[in-house]
Amino acid sequence: MINFDLHTHTVWSHGKGTIEENAAEAAKKGLKGIAITDHGFSHPAFGMRRRHLDEMKRECVLASEKHGVDVLLGIESNLRGEDGTIDVKPKDYEKLDVILAGVHRFIYYKYFRDFTRLLGQNIFYNVTGLKPTKKLIAYNTKCYVNAIKHNPIDVITHVGFLCFCDPVEVAKVAADYGTYIEINTKKTHLTDEQWEKVIETGVDFVVDSDAHSVERVGDSALAEELFKRVKFPMDRIKNINGQVPELRFAAYKKEHGIG
Ligand SMILES: [Zn+2]
Ligand SMILES: [Zn+2]
Repeated sequence: MINFDLHTHTVWSHGKGTIEENAAEAAKKGLKGIAITDHGFSHPAFGMRRRHLDEMKRECVLASEKHGVDVLLGIESNLRGEDGTIDVKPKDYEKLDVILAGVHRFIYYKYFRDFTRLLGQNIFYNVTGLKPTKKLIAYNTKCYVNAIKHNPIDVITHVGFLCFCDPVEVAKVAADYGTYIEINTKKTHLTDEQWEKVIETGVDFVVDSDAHSVERVGDSALAEELFKRVKFPMDRIKNINGQVPELRFAAYKKEHGIG
C-alpha cells in the first residue's frame, strides 16, 4: 500500500538496518522511495548527531543510485517545549530533506517546566491510568500546535502516543500549515473515535512504517486494519496507492533559496 515511506530508522539512531539495507528493502517491495528519519539531536542516548549529517547524506545518495529508489535524508525531531521548539534549527535546513516531529521521552527539554510536564506528568497519567488534567492536555496540544506554526514540519508522528493532547486541535493547525498527520503502523496512537474527528478537520495524512528493522520498511498492516474500522478518504492519504507526497519543508527551502 505505501508508495513512499517517510519514516524509517537506521543504525544512525536505534534502528537495526543501515541506510542501504532500508533502501534495498524499499526497492524489493516496489516502493518509489523512503526517508531516513533517525531520532533527533536532543536525544542524549540515541539521537543522531549533526556532525554525521554529511556522511548520512552520502550514504543516501549511494543507496539511491544502487537500488533505484529515492532516499531522502530526514529527521524525527522531538517536541521540546510549549513554545514550539524542536531540535532542528534553521542552520540544519540545508542538510535535510524531510522534517518529522513527535513526542519522545528523556530528551533535552527547553525549560524545566517542559521537562516536568512533557515527561513527568505524561508518564504519571500513563502509568497510573488516572484521567489527565485539562491543563496538561492544553499544554501538550500547545507543544504540537506551536511546533507546527514555527517550523516547516512535514509530518507529525504518532500524535497522542505517550502524550495526552487534543488531536483535533493539532490536526486543524496541521491542515492550515500543510503538515501531514501520520498514521503510524508500528503502534496504535489514537482511538477510532479520535480518528473520525481528526478526519473531519480536512487534514491530509501519510501512512508510515516507523521501521526500526529492515523487514518493516513499507509495512502498512496496522493501517489496513484501521481502514476496515474507520472510513478514511483515501485521496487524502498522500503517500499510498502510487502517490508521492508534496512536502512542506521542500517548498519552504525552495521559497527561501536554501540548498
Ligand atoms: Zn517516534
Ligand atoms: Zn520513529
